[in-house]
Amino acid sequence: MIVRQGFKYRLDTNDAQSARLRVLCGHARFVWNQALALCNEAAQTEGQYVPRYESMAKWVTDWKKDSETEWLKEAYTDNLQQKLKDLDTAWQRYFKKIGNARRPRFKKKGRSRDSIRFVNFHKYCKLEGRRVKLPSGLGWITFCKSRDILGTVKNCTIGFDGGHWFISFQTERQIDQPKHSSRSMVGLDLGVTRFFTLSDGTVKEPASSFKAHQHRLTRAQRALAKKVKFSANWQKQKARINRIHTRIASVRRDYLHKTSTTISKNHAMIVIEDLKVSNMSRSAKGTTENPGTNVAAKSGLNRSILDQGWHEFRRQLTYKQAFRGGEVLAVPAHYTSQTCPVCQHISADNRKTQARFECVECGFSENADLVGAINIKARGHRVLACGESALAAR
Ligand SMILES: [Zn+2]
Repeated sequence: MIVRQGFKYRLDTNDAQSARLRVLCGHARFVWNQALALCNEAAQTEGQYVPRYESMAKWVTDWKKDSETEWLKEAYTDNLQQKLKDLDTAWQRYFKKIGNARRPRFKKKGRSRDSIRFVNFHKYCKLEGRRVKLPSGLGWITFCKSRDILGTVKNCTIGFDGGHWFISFQTERQIDQPKHSSRSMVGLDLGVTRFFTLSDGTVKEPASSFKAHQHRLTRAQRALAKKVKFSANWQKQKARINRIHTRIASVRRDYLHKTSTTISKNHAMIVIEDLKVSNMSRSAKGTTENPGTNVAAKSGLNRSILDQGWHEFRRQLTYKQAFRGGEVLAVPAHYTSQTCPVCQHISADNRKTQARFECVECGFSENADLVGAINIKARGHRVLACGESALAAR
């Protein structure tokens, strides 16, 4: 099986290299915005149709000949082509409604995350210890090599984020179909007060990286509002806010990786509820015809969901399990929180409070999240044994 993995590091650029990277990002951003404007025009006159990559690539040739934009000749062509391919992909994702794909938007200098990609790494770039050689006048750049790069580097992306340049190497490697070292099966219940509870009783508290930094963020945002828009102090404050966002994201990423790795190492089969997280976090407000109920409570819950990154957690569990030869099994979520694991009695009354489960039929009492995890595991067993479907699971 072929494993594709990204390895991201902070770059240690000198002034000349930083300046060159800003120029290259500027070229790429210009091409994205120009092409996007033409696509938007085409979409207006020809309905949903926008030109594909092959047509966009020809525009670049024209722009290089045009006296007003001939400075594009200085650009690194591969970077521009990759940007247009990204734009093409963004349109296709938008039209096919993949994930939560939004309509492509213009990139604003200093406000959108700038990045450029170098392809054909083996041909134009070089990796040596903790430094990388890049084309287009960049030369050797050292990076903070916090871990080894596994596999063959296919391409790399350089981006500016939170005041620093980062490089991400995309690699590929062939590994034997793995066999999970454990034979254990576990049910996993994701929650708000507890990040997750396992059917074996393991509990993990939430990262609350957002809450911990929220105070700083709110204060910084309030300070920004008082400054004159686009002034030097405003720009400085804006950069400060970006750094806090970057910090929050990195704490969260670290937390999610550590927890997903531990579960994936210990259990061959992880049973989870098939919650539609994206629906949960989007639907609180509702629509004008069908306004949402209990909006305040839900948006609080939604913030917790987003804060804790359930989507990302599930994605990590899935690829880590595949990597180890384990599996993630998603089962329907009906009544997993209301079913008594002892006598199977289903009732909303079993769950009088958020935290406690108390069976009205047999009197069995336990932490509600743990009961959820036990029921999820039991459902996993039934799905595996007899192919119990979403309907039969009631
Ligand atoms: Zn019971």
